[in-house]
Amino acid sequence: MKYVVGLLLALACLQAQATEEQTVVLISIDGFRHDYIELHGAPNIAKIAEQGVRSEGLIPVYPSKTFPNHISIVTGQYPSNHGIVDNNFYDTERKQRYKMGDGVKDSTWLTTLPIWNLAEFQGVKAATFFWPESEARINGRTPSYYFNYSTPAPNRQRIDQIVEWLKLPEAARPRLVTGYFSIVDTMGHRFGPESHQVAKAVKHVDELIGELWQRIHDETEVPVNLILVSDHGMSQITAKDMIDVKELNIDEELFEIVNASTRLMIYPKEDVSADQIQQLEQRLKQKQGNFVIESEQQLAQLGVTDGPRKPAIVLGTTAPATFTTRPEEQRKDGGTHGFHSSRDMDGLFVAAGPAIQQGTQINRFSNIHIYPFMAKLLELELMTEIDGDAEVLTPIIR
Ligand SMILES: [Zn+2]
Repeated sequence: MKYVVGLLLALACLQAQATEEQTVVLISIDGFRHDYIELHGAPNIAKIAEQGVRSEGLIPVYPSKTFPNHISIVTGQYPSNHGIVDNNFYDTERKQRYKMGDGVKDSTWLTTLPIWNLAEFQGVKAATFFWPESEARINGRTPSYYFNYSTPAPNRQRIDQIVEWLKLPEAARPRLVTGYFSIVDTMGHRFGPESHQVAKAVKHVDELIGELWQRIHDETEVPVNLILVSDHGMSQITAKDMIDVKELNIDEELFEIVNASTRLMIYPKEDVSADQIQQLEQRLKQKQGNFVIESEQQLAQLGVTDGPRKPAIVLGTTAPATFTTRPEEQRKDGGTHGFHSSRDMDGLFVAAGPAIQQGTQINRFSNIHIYPFMAKLLELELMTEIDGDAEVLTPIIR
């Protein structure tokens, strides 16, 4: 009898484990290139990768910029479908410019459902510290707990807060938590991807991640699946290869120009004819060399679809060239991102936890597939059509 009861208890335990509600902690290390773990030494992240899954690289959406990619990670959509098509862009219907964070003032810039909304709609609490646009009131809702993206907050305070959230009583505890660190990207821009300043920033963030992972195990009993990502990688750029936007002589009476450094977006103002656009295009064609005019076919392949946020003309560059409006004496070598997908633009993907396979390496994949993966871990039903495919990461779920 004792044996039978014991067996039943054991079975009940097993079942409880299998159906235990999972928690997801998603951390973004802005600008952490796929090879930084080895290049600069990140022993804690390497250890977490050994305990779980590491991808060869995380392919950013086009353009490989911070806001479009962070939003693609949390919506499973290409930028044309989630609305944030670059860090800065123009909308020919609204006749307004968007700049990073404007969704907070007006959430209609975002045209889809982020994962924290999906969670909250289905009774799962979410917390963000931070995530781009996570304080925007999308569909009238924010995460249960959030901080303003622009608030300066010491990096260690973010770790403390995440642990505090995970220690809350069950009814108040978020099961989806996001965190964000910008220092690796900042140093990458200033000094280039291979600099010792980036190495130092990588070590700093690696220590924080190690501390977070340790404290999750020491201080909580929550089944946490930690997902480490970055929005893009980093390429070396040089001052001597910068293209002066002024020298292109684009008539600002007729066109809105958005200089995104790795590309130039040109939008027609009201009453500009198709002929006038074509004339400009013809003229710019003559100047091609250190930049190209992106073809319609190319843009379509990159997931850019028609709409008021699609520029009439896009000029693209490849590293080490970029567009600039700065006078020559103010131009500096450094690093940037925003180029077409390449190995240098690949970001980081590492995941570990009770619902994730152990010791697995996977091929590089597009970051649009992370949203359905997180939804699956949290047992959330997708409520909208998305570009991402749940099948891509299903094999890494235990
Ligand atoms: Zn950046």
